[in-house]
Amino acid sequence: MSPAADPSCLFCKIIEGKIPSSKVYEDDDMLVFHDIHPWAPVHFLMVPKVHLASMAQVGPEHEALLGRMMSLAPKLALQEGCRPYPEGGFRVVINTGQEGGQEVQHLHVHVIGGPRPWLKG
Ligand code: AMP
Ligand code: ZN
Repeated sequence: MSPAADPSCLFCKIIEGKIPSSKVYEDDDMLVFHDIHPWAPVHFLMVPKVHLASMAQVGPEHEALLGRMMSLAPKLALQEGCRPYPEGGFRVVINTGQEGGQEVQHLHVHVIGGPRPWLKG
């Protein structure tokens, strides 16, 4: 286990391959996989490999990591079936904390898109 991993964290277990996922992309810093309960025709999660409980823990030391995740999102959205901007597009959501609707306590970026209607949003 990586020292940065939390053994009780679902997404750390997915990152370590202890729980299977439907992988979209992986590199040294992040794993991207399909949401198990998609709200829309395209719905994947972008997850940093380091265990950060939420966006509330993000600081200046994470600027490069978050920048890479954000700049990769449009490419992966198209690859996964979102139509191009402006007719198509996608939604990016980072739920943070209880009142922010966060259920899994490991920072993740939802990328959601595809033809409507969607289940949520
Ligand atoms: P949030 O409410 O922002 O914390 O979102 C957590 C998301 O993780 C939800 O959309 C779940 O459907 C998704 N999820 C939970 N377990 C898994 C899993 N094993 N594989 C993929 N996605 C998952
Ligand atoms: Zn974790």
